[in-house]
Amino acid sequence: MSAPRKAVIVGAGPVGCLTAISLAKMGWAVEIYEGRPDMRLPTSKAAAQQRSINLAISARGITALQAIHPDASDRFLRAAIPMRGRMIHDLTGKQNSQPYDRNGQCINSIDRALLNEDLLEEALAVANIQVFFNHKVLSIDFDSQAMSVRDADAGKDIAVLFDFCVGADGSYSIVRRQLMRVVRMNYHQDYIPHEYLELRMPAGPSAHDGGEPTFLLDPNHLHIWPRHSFMLIALPNQDKTFTCTLFAPTAEFDRLSNPENVVDWFRTNFPDALPLIGEKALLRDFERNPRSPLISIKATPYHYKDRVLLLGDAAHSMVPFYGQGLNCGLEDVRVLDQLLHAQKVDPTFRPSKGAVDDRLAQALQEYTERRHEDLITICDLAMDNYTEMRHSVTTPTYLFRKALDNLLFSLTSQQVTPESFMPELIHDSFPTHWPTGWLPLYTMVTFRPDISYATVKRKARRQDELLNNVGWWSGALTVGITCMAIWRHLRK
Ligand SMILES: Cc1cc2nc3c(=O)[nH]c(=O)nc-3n(C[C@H](O)[C@H](O)[C@H](O)COP(=O)(O)OP(=O)(O)OC[C@H]3O[C@@H](n4cnc5c(N)ncnc54)[C@H](O)[C@@H]3O)c2cc1C
Repeated sequence: MSAPRKAVIVGAGPVGCLTAISLAKMGWAVEIYEGRPDMRLPTSKAAAQQRSINLAISARGITALQAIHPDASDRFLRAAIPMRGRMIHDLTGKQNSQPYDRNGQCINSIDRALLNEDLLEEALAVANIQVFFNHKVLSIDFDSQAMSVRDADAGKDIAVLFDFCVGADGSYSIVRRQLMRVVRMNYHQDYIPHEYLELRMPAGPSAHDGGEPTFLLDPNHLHIWPRHSFMLIALPNQDKTFTCTLFAPTAEFDRLSNPENVVDWFRTNFPDALPLIGEKALLRDFERNPRSPLISIKATPYHYKDRVLLLGDAAHSMVPFYGQGLNCGLEDVRVLDQLLHAQKVDPTFRPSKGAVDDRLAQALQEYTERRHEDLITICDLAMDNYTEMRHSVTTPTYLFRKALDNLLFSLTSQQVTPESFMPELIHDSFPTHWPTGWLPLYTMVTFRPDISYATVKRKARRQDELLNNVGWWSGALTVGITCMAIWRHLRK
C-alpha cells in the first residue's frame, strides 16, 4: 500500500484538532502547526485565564463531535453544565426565566480550555497526527505546496511541504490572506461598535461547614441583564463560579474612566449583579482584563483547487450573540468529512507533479458552493441576535411573538431530538430539506442540526410572512366588520 499523503492543519484550536482527527481517521498523515506554546503547559494556562473561559456548545457542535469522534462528545457533555433557558434580570433585580425549548432541550456551558485540550489529547492519541507548537505559519505557496514556518524554539524559519492544507487559524487567518493571492476572494469584514470585557463572579459559601461551595445564581440558566444599548451575561463554570461578559459600545466603556464611575454605573445598571461580583473583584477585572473588539468576517471561496480549505473562524467570524461560532466551525468539519467520503477521496493517491486530485478538488468545490449560503446566514443571524439579547427580550412584542411561536410549535410539530436523526446525520449533511410544522427560529438554529442555516432562514421568513398575512387579514376583517356595524347603525 502507498504511503499516505500529508495534510497540514494551521491552528490547534478546536476546529483544527477535530479536522485533524477526521482526516487522520480517513488515512491522511496529519501535521498540525500551532503558533502558540502547548496549551497544556502551566504557563499557557495562566495566560489563558485572561481570555474567555467558557462558551455554550449546542446540538450542531455536539452532532459534529459525535459524527467524527463519539467518545469525546460524551465526555464533553459530562463536563458541561446544561442551561435550559435565559434568565432575564430587570433593573430591580427581579428574575424571569425564558426556557429555550418546550421539550427541555439545553445549551451547554463548557470550559473552553478543557474542550480544546481534550480535543488536542484525542488528536495526539491518533497514530498519524503530529503537533508542532511554537510554529507560526508565515506564508504559503499553494502551487508549489510549501509553507514557511517560524520555529520559535529553534529560532529559525523552516519550509514545510504538504499535499493538502487546512486553514483553521482563526479570525486573523494567515491562510486566508495567502488564499486571497491566488483566488478572486470576495471578502467583507465589520468591527461592530461594541467591545466586551470579562468579569468573574465567585462561588458562594457552602451551605454547611466544610461543604462544597455553591453557585450564587441558578446554574442552569444563561443569565442576561439586557439594558438596550449594552448588556451583561453570565455562564456557569464547574467550579461554581460564573464568567460574566459585559458587552457595551466603546463610547460607554470610555466613560468608565475611574473606579467610582465603574462602581456607580454597575450599581445603577446591574444592582443585583454588583454585590455578587463584589466591588473589589469588579475593579480588579476592569483593570486587569482586556477590552476586546468584536469582528464579523465573510469570505468566499473557501478553497483553491485541491490545495487548501478554510474552516472555522478563519472562514467565517461571527459576533458571539447566537452562541454559534464554534458550533458552526465544528459543523464545517462534519460537512467536509462527508464530502470527502462522498467523493471517495483516496489519501494515498498521488497525482503527478503539478497535477490536481480531481476528487479532492471536486469535494472542496462542493464545500464552497454548498456551505457559503449557510455561513453568510449564520453571520447575519448572529448580528441580529445582539439586538434581541440586549433589547428585544424585554419588550411585550417579543414576549407575545415567543408565546405565539411556542403555541404554534406545540400544535404543529412533533418532538425531535438530535439523537433521533443522528444515524442520518453521519452520512448526510442536512437530511431535512424542508422542515415540517411550525418551528421557532431559535429552536431551528440551536437544536436542529439536520436543518442547514440557509433553510432555517428561509423557513423563518416564510413563517414571518404567514403571520404578517394573518395579521393583515384579521386587521382588514376587523375594519370591515366595524364599517358594516356603523353603516347598519346609521341606516336605522
Ligand atoms: C466573547 C466570545 C464568546 C463566544 N461564545 C461562543 C459560544 O458560546 N458558543 C460558540 O459556539 N462560539 C462562541 N464563540 C466563538 C468561538 O470562540 C470561536 O468560533 C471558536 O473559538 C473558533 O475556533 P477555531 O478553532 O476556528 O479558531 P480559534 O479558536 O481562534 O483557533 C485558531 C488557532 O490558530 C492559531 N493560529 C493563528 N494564526 C496562526 C499561524 N499563523 N500559525 C499557526 N497557528 C496560528 C491560534 O493560535 C489558535 O490556536 C465566542 C467568541 C467570543 C469572542
